[in-house]
Amino acid sequence: MIRRTGLLTLFWAAAVVLGCGRGEERLNVLLVTLDTTRADHFGFAGYEDGQTPRFDDFARARAVRFGNAVSAIPLTLPSHTTIMTGTYPVHHGVHDNDGFVVDEGVTTLAEILSDAGFSTGACVASYPLDSEFNLDQGFQHYNDDYQEQWTEDEIDARTALSFGFTERKAHHVNAAALRWLESHVDEPFFLWVHYFDPHQGYDPPSPYDSLFASSPYDGEIAFMDENFGDLLDALEAWDLTDTTIIVVVGDHGESLEQHGEPTHAAYLYDTTVRVPLLIAAPGSGQATGKSVDGQVRTIDIAPTILDLLGLPADAEFQGSSLVPELRNPSMGGQRPALIESHFTQYHFQWAPLRGLRTDRWKYLLAPKPELYDLADDPGEVYNVIGSHPEIAGELDRQLDEQFRQYSWPDLARSVVTITDSAVVAKLEALGYATGGSETVRTAPYPSRQELITLPNPSDNSLLLRFINSAREMLRQQQFTKAFEVALKGLAIDPDNPRLHVMAARAELSMGNVEKAIELFERAAVFDPADIHPFVYLGYAYSLLGRNDEAKEHYLVAARMHPGRIDVLENLGMVQAELGEYSEAVETFSKAAEVDAGKWTIHMRLAAALRQTGRYEEARSELQSALRLNPYSPVLLDQIAKLYATIGNYSFARDALEQAIRISPEEPLLRLHLAGVILEGAGEEHEARAQLEQVVALAPESRAGLVAREWLDGGGAPLLDPDGSMMVPARTATLAETSPRE
Ligand SMILES: [Zn+2]
Repeated sequence: MIRRTGLLTLFWAAAVVLGCGRGEERLNVLLVTLDTTRADHFGFAGYEDGQTPRFDDFARARAVRFGNAVSAIPLTLPSHTTIMTGTYPVHHGVHDNDGFVVDEGVTTLAEILSDAGFSTGACVASYPLDSEFNLDQGFQHYNDDYQEQWTEDEIDARTALSFGFTERKAHHVNAAALRWLESHVDEPFFLWVHYFDPHQGYDPPSPYDSLFASSPYDGEIAFMDENFGDLLDALEAWDLTDTTIIVVVGDHGESLEQHGEPTHAAYLYDTTVRVPLLIAAPGSGQATGKSVDGQVRTIDIAPTILDLLGLPADAEFQGSSLVPELRNPSMGGQRPALIESHFTQYHFQWAPLRGLRTDRWKYLLAPKPELYDLADDPGEVYNVIGSHPEIAGELDRQLDEQFRQYSWPDLARSVVTITDSAVVAKLEALGYATGGSETVRTAPYPSRQELITLPNPSDNSLLLRFINSAREMLRQQQFTKAFEVALKGLAIDPDNPRLHVMAARAELSMGNVEKAIELFERAAVFDPADIHPFVYLGYAYSLLGRNDEAKEHYLVAARMHPGRIDVLENLGMVQAELGEYSEAVETFSKAAEVDAGKWTIHMRLAAALRQTGRYEEARSELQSALRLNPYSPVLLDQIAKLYATIGNYSFARDALEQAIRISPEEPLLRLHLAGVILEGAGEEHEARAQLEQVVALAPESRAGLVAREWLDGGGAPLLDPDGSMMVPARTATLAETSPRE
């Protein structure tokens, strides 16, 4: 990142206050990114089957609308990196959600604005934008705690067994964003709010679930619309409407089965690369309510924001300011847009896709190139390359030239690679060929001769469908069906690593752990640089109680991508299971360093510290966890364990009684309470009452058996401060670890 001198910062801060054409008022920036949102599913775009009154009203009364805004890439992390840096993926180096961490060397809008004296805050809604991927550069506050609002049940439901997407809904995003904004309304701020709701699975909350029963995707957009409105209302209530630049943009669209693509990521049709873009720039002389029809790009957003603030453009920007179009919507165009997707190359070993979109044409470079006349055929139905070879040839030449011009020289920029020789050795010891250090992610773009030998993505949409339905069925916990669909896909493409992972996940969820391990191991052989099979293998081995093997696989995954907090969390738990508490302390500490905002990490670190006798540190970690999540029975149970360990039974009892008030049906809590009562005050009748409830609640559970044994006069200790944690490794929060789009 480029650090600027203090003097320059002061100058810029002054420019913001004085030089923005609004007299003494300073401008703030609110950037709202809409994940997976199609440009054509809004009322303002003529769509009649949705419900977007707040966006429509904003477009009409406050903003300028861009009818042809193009995203550089239909994937969440790379697209947001483009928005934040004003550069193409070939420059910032992030081409996929998996296997990339945003390079420290890129300059983000947040860094520039932070250096210019803005308070910078972000609130993101899903895992691909987690701080571990390093797009938090420049944000003084980066809230990626999408688990924050989850209940214990949700945490359980989204564990490894269901492999749910880690996301939070728009109203929770608003709550967290506004909490931050509340303390920064009196200073220039840059706030980024990310909504993820329209992403698959489409399950809008009431009343949108019934209003949009037949098109739940539109229901998600309607829900997002309501929340966008709430955000605007909050701004209005703080009297910030006239002093805040508001940019609303989609990161990519959603194909909804058009072109044979169920969702997004694989193809480069307008269903996924055209995005909504609305800009409201008070005091800029903008043509409010008007629409710009000329093509613009998401690389133009960061330059536009700096221009509106009166700040100089960054030297690395590859886009340019849209202020001329804001003032005069009829001008514009002449902004050719590069588009790309390596998704099917990385995950299915098909050809990568590149494209060049102009105001009239779209040219797609593939084993079978495509050309669309967008003026006559906006749906991109007719490939006219045969009748316009000269246009295709010219666009092909321009595409080549521009990709070359914009590319960063080091192809490994932002790529997570196995450079660690210890990992390579470990992989080989486990029987995986490593095949050199070069991965598909650092390889140069194939030559034309190589390209035509690769499978053509648009000829293989059937496989995309199988993959998508297998994933949806996994999400809906229909494991038998998911397995069958994955097998159908494998019949077409027997080496497809992703289908192997899906079949394995289905097996795992049906309890066929050994079979799952076999399939995960096959997937690992196809691409030993892919972290996911190793994460799952770690998990699967831990299910079998083969913790040594679990640890080996987690260690590989942790070294491949040191910032993966879910991997560290699971590794630490396996180490704790193995009784390697000092190692567990080290692992959990590393995880807490990566992200201090996850309460489960602090809780597990505390448990490991307790086991190594470091009670004071354990207490402090539990306090950190408690600050993040004051109402977790699991956490209160851990607090009780620590107090019981140091002999403070009355505090331990308080914590457990509080936990039971929250979760009265949890037998383990009552078992532990009985133990604390007996060890402490020794009121046997009270302990007995608790144990009877344990038996009544869960006669067949382990807690029930222990309780019954004690009541029958047997003697297993009820309180087991040195035993394993209440949340065992198999229910660890394993974030969605399959390659996701
Ligand atoms: Zn996205």
